[in-house]
Amino acid sequence: MILDGKKSAESFYEKLKIRTANLTNQPCLAAVQVGDNPASNTYLRIKEKKLLELGMSFRLVKFDSNTTQDEVKSKIIELNSDSNINGIIVQLPLPENFNERELLDSVSISKDIDCLTTLNMGRFVTGQSELMPATPLGVLRLLEFYNIDLEGKNICIIGRSNLVGKPLALALVQKNATVTICHSKTNNLAAITIQSSIVISAVGKPKFLTKEYFAPNQTVIDIGTSLNPETNKLSGDVDFENVQDLNLSITPVPGGVGPMTVYGLIENLVRLSEEPILSKNI
Ligand code: NAP
Repeated sequence: MILDGKKSAESFYEKLKIRTANLTNQPCLAAVQVGDNPASNTYLRIKEKKLLELGMSFRLVKFDSNTTQDEVKSKIIELNSDSNINGIIVQLPLPENFNERELLDSVSISKDIDCLTTLNMGRFVTGQSELMPATPLGVLRLLEFYNIDLEGKNICIIGRSNLVGKPLALALVQKNATVTICHSKTNNLAAITIQSSIVISAVGKPKFLTKEYFAPNQTVIDIGTSLNPETNKLSGDVDFENVQDLNLSITPVPGGVGPMTVYGLIENLVRLSEEPILSKNI
């Protein structure tokens, strides 16, 4: 079975429309971009298109790559106090000479819809807040849409980034799953993936997971998105064509986790628009 991210996202957007109908002002997202990374340009266009479609607004603040760290930081601080802005994202990756952590932590926690500030991440880890990064939230919603039970399930996550693997593992543990996190130093990865009922991959290597890594009837969530140099097309981590006879419930790339990540971001934007003072208990 194909786990269709577009279909799932559309169903959740219908629920968001009901929530935002009661807001006095429609949410506005500001994106801070440094440089002209083509993949970032595409992701930002996709976010803008969806927000406008939903009647929300989008403001892009784009800097040349030879701008300074301080200029970008000052702009973020200005956006923090702009009452017309409900959410701020710093589009990653930043050029190498920028201090990513400092800029992420400059975003006000009450506008941090990516949940990437140290404080919001800490609040999530300690169970003080349900706000989580967009991709883990999107994956949870996708599993919810397809009624995939998590309690007591063995789940293998491949990838341990702060953006995806770690917060997703935590979110799944909070849903009572038993999670194994794998990475580039994991020995005998296939032995772990094969015995898991759900395999989630966030590696970023095209067709890295061949048929040998899977067992029949598993659920497979392919977060990886990379350009396959052989075909020049976008590819997931899973060798999708060669796992067809295993009866997997699997996300395609594109059309799986991608649309759910955009949804996750917009759900966070709506959440912080409804409850702007996330910091009130701190
Ligand atoms: P990342 O920071 O580069 O992390 C990649 C992870 O893969 C690392 O933990 C790395 O292990 C692990 N890895 C690399 N080679 C491996 C191997 N041979 N065996 C097992 N693990 C291996 O990337 P990320 O930011 O988490 O993103 C991962 C992928 O997801 C990328 O393709 C990205 O584009 C995609 N992504 C997609 C969406 C979406 O909406 N669809 C959203 C976010 C990210 P080490 O830690 O040991 O190096």
